[in-house]
Amino acid sequence: MTEISTETIDVAIIGGGFAGIGAAIRLKQQGISDFVIFERGTAIGGTWRDNTYPGAACDIPSRLYSYSFAPNPNWSHTYSGSNEILGYIESMASELELHSHFRFGHNISGIEFDETAGLWDITIEGRTDTVRARAVVLASGPLANASFPAIPGLENYQGHKIHSARWDHDYDFTGKKVAVVGTGASAVQIIPELVAKAASVKVFQRTPGWVLPRVNRRTNSLTKQLYRRVPAAENLARRAWFYGHESVALGVVWNTPLTRVVELVGRAQLHRQVKDPWLRRQLTPDFRAGCKRLLMTDDYYPALQAENCKLISWPIARLSERGIRTAEGIEHQADCIVFATGFDVSKTGTPIPITGRHGRVLAEEWQRGAYAFKSIAVSGYPNLFLTFGPNSGPGHNSALVYMEAQIDYLVSGIKTILDQDLRMLDVRRDRQDRYNAGMQRRLTATTWNSGCSSWYLTEDGFNATMYPGFATQYVNQLRTVDLDDYNVVPAAARTPRIAAVS
Ligand SMILES: Cc1cc2nc3c(=O)[nH]c(=O)nc-3n(C[C@H](O)[C@H](O)[C@H](O)COP(=O)(O)OP(=O)(O)OC[C@H]3O[C@@H](n4cnc5c(N)ncnc54)[C@H](O)[C@@H]3O)c2cc1C
Repeated sequence: MTEISTETIDVAIIGGGFAGIGAAIRLKQQGISDFVIFERGTAIGGTWRDNTYPGAACDIPSRLYSYSFAPNPNWSHTYSGSNEILGYIESMASELELHSHFRFGHNISGIEFDETAGLWDITIEGRTDTVRARAVVLASGPLANASFPAIPGLENYQGHKIHSARWDHDYDFTGKKVAVVGTGASAVQIIPELVAKAASVKVFQRTPGWVLPRVNRRTNSLTKQLYRRVPAAENLARRAWFYGHESVALGVVWNTPLTRVVELVGRAQLHRQVKDPWLRRQLTPDFRAGCKRLLMTDDYYPALQAENCKLISWPIARLSERGIRTAEGIEHQADCIVFATGFDVSKTGTPIPITGRHGRVLAEEWQRGAYAFKSIAVSGYPNLFLTFGPNSGPGHNSALVYMEAQIDYLVSGIKTILDQDLRMLDVRRDRQDRYNAGMQRRLTATTWNSGCSSWYLTEDGFNATMYPGFATQYVNQLRTVDLDDYNVVPAAARTPRIAAVS
């Protein structure tokens, strides 16, 4: 009989991106070291390991798109490139000696709660051995699964296909005819780079987005020195960026008269950079600024007007063997099609199968849209903590500010479980329902719910992704774990841990 080993650990972290690594650091700093980070890939970094397309960079200033507990005085620019961000993540992991906690190539295929033992059973794809954990941090990322659009004929196309999130660095674009599908946040970074290299670039646009200026400056050595020597100065700069972005919420999160101001800035950029009225018309959005993700770039409009670039706003009908056929019947031949078409964002269902108390299946409960308590905990699924969970998305500020607050909250929850030897820390259903009723009420006044279709909403218009408020409000609600919000079940009846089952 083959022996199936079962290992029991305190904490399982699923995902080794920004969130998983942040959680690991904070756990370690709290003296919790019996944790494993399960990562399906072969390296750390998540988004920034995967998105290496030319021009990949953050669109929130690096000073703010970083953890406050791991400041980096050496950012080279206001907005850093993908490589530099990955370097930052790697250096955090090295400094805190996290590498020994990683298990690469471990794709978690499901978790199931054993109520008697107060442990999560974790299943790993392709392996018979299982791991049990007293607490699980699901940090599998909101934008980790690249998605191709449902265009008829996708498989027929005989040329080269590249997704922005899985770049093919061996493909040489020099002299090639390239088609780019999509005009979202990744596309506007890629297109200027392709235009500089390829023979021709055709950009297939479904909906034009609001484009705002992104003034990117190199950080001079004096400033870096100042930040190295006087950390308070760097902290001050971070705060300035933070409150600057908070003020933008007034026009971007809520549909207010200030939304018009944001739109005026977008229109001014369009008028300044695009002289041809017909092109300008094609690039003018028909929805409120903020309703879809804002595009921060100074290079996109100029690139579109380069001699070798053309914007196509006819809808794509299908892919042919040699290119893209648009609705008016023209075939646009291309050597390579770049799909900057985003990600499979889990708004309904769950990223992995999750079975909670009494055999409850979270994917079924989230069938019509995901919801949670403060985006982190779900009633009936004890000792499970989500990062970037339902309604935690920012429209105006750094995701890392939100993530940091989630991490400190969940680490405090995990510490409570371990210190008080709890079998279950299970959020109360009534608290969760009250929280979500308030959430959906508040969302009605936001730009995201103002009528455009976006990846923030489910097909029937439920907003399961965005947080309708200031980052400050989000962070404040997560300052402490109030045990009154939870059913707290001590470990008295926990069955002994089993080391090996044969
Ligand atoms: C191109 C791009 C640019 C962005 N720029 C910004 C920005 O400027 N500002 C901002 O605020 N936000 C930005 N974001 C959003 C967000 O900040 C990033 O996606 C961020 O890296 C999310 O971190 P994460 O750890 O939650 O997820 P990820 O970085 O995606 O990490 C998740 C990890 O989990 C692993 N994983 C997934 N499923 C499993 C499984 N079943 N088993 C084991 N491992 C698994 C994945 O392989 C991955 O390594 C950007 C996103 C993208 C895609």
